Amino acid sequence: MTEGAAQILVVDDRAEDNCSLAELVGLFNYETFCATSQEEAVRLLQEKGIDAAVISIDSPINGFQIAQHIKGLDDYKDLPLAFTTSQDYDYPTLMEAQYYGGMFLHRKPYDDVEVLATLSSMVRVKMLQDELKERMQELDHLASTDVLTGIYNRRMFFIRVAEEMARARRNQSPYCVLYMDIDHFKGINDTHGHLAGDFILRSFAQLVDQAKRKSDVFGRIGGEEFVILLPDAGYDEGQMIAERIRATIEETDINWVGKAIPVTISVGMLAIPENAVATADELMKIADEALYEAKESGRNRVVSRELEIGDAVARPFGFL
Ligand code: GH3
Ligand code: MG
Ligand code: MG
Repeated sequence: MTEGAAQILVVDDRAEDNCSLAELVGLFNYETFCATSQEEAVRLLQEKGIDAAVISIDSPINGFQIAQHIKGLDDYKDLPLAFTTSQDYDYPTLMEAQYYGGMFLHRKPYDDVEVLATLSSMVRVKMLQDELKERMQELDHLASTDVLTGIYNRRMFFIRVAEEMARARRNQSPYCVLYMDIDHFKGINDTHGHLAGDFILRSFAQLVDQAKRKSDVFGRIGGEEFVILLPDAGYDEGQMIAERIRATIEETDINWVGKAIPVTISVGMLAIPENAVATADELMKIADEALYEAKESGRNRVVSRELEIGDAVARPFGFL
């Protein structure tokens, strides 16, 4: 909904009809914008935040065609519409008006009360639509975001991974998966408290988020476990990025109430060459095995593997 008065677009080539409607609309403190052609209507839609439209179907205005055009515009596909005509209309015309998205069809000269009721219904519909859209956006955000860190949650991360895997297969491009786990995190919680632990999780997510490319997909998939998918990255690049993230975390002072808490991470890096075939579960399992090796061999390190082409069996590449 536009700020302030609702904005109504009137499309009618008869100035007197426009004026009488504008007067009526004024009674409700709505603002009217009048157009006499499709081009003008579209220009007004683009320039103003229109909340509802009243369109004449009298020749030469092709009201139904204009409505169809408006419904084809992404931002206006749900715009509440009403049609007007100076002809007696029959049942098929009424059906046609409904088919083209008209909530009402009014006969000119207008019955003022009816038209005002129409406008107020359309504005109310627009208000409810906008509220619903806003709520849906909030829900989408909640359903896809990790509350603590603000990055993708597990659910959204795997949705994005599926999209990236499909894209990589289509483009025959390589990619990498970095499975990251904070070392001795339980000890950090035990020593400094759970709030400090939360702060470290947020700081870690922020550091990686700032360092990653826009196209990288980053999510928190468990307590202190994070995964990043690097599209279009081969083995060497994946290894370099994994090592850079590991070093950044080791070298960054994360200060909690005046105390620098040393944090390190272990990383399992899996490179998936172009043409390699595996499911997301297989990729995660192999990256997790590499992470396990990084833990077992002393932590604060990266262990890298590469998926064999056409096979989901990993080939160990040793430690960095
Ligand atoms: P390792 O080096 O082997 O990974 O050891 P670790 O202590 O990091 O791993 P472990 O799995 O033993 O402990 C993970 C801890 O993470 C236990 C759990 O209480 C803590 N944790 C999980 N989620 C959260 C959270 O949201 N906030 C905080 N503060 N702690 C969390
Ligand atoms: Mg851990
Ligand atoms: Mg863990």
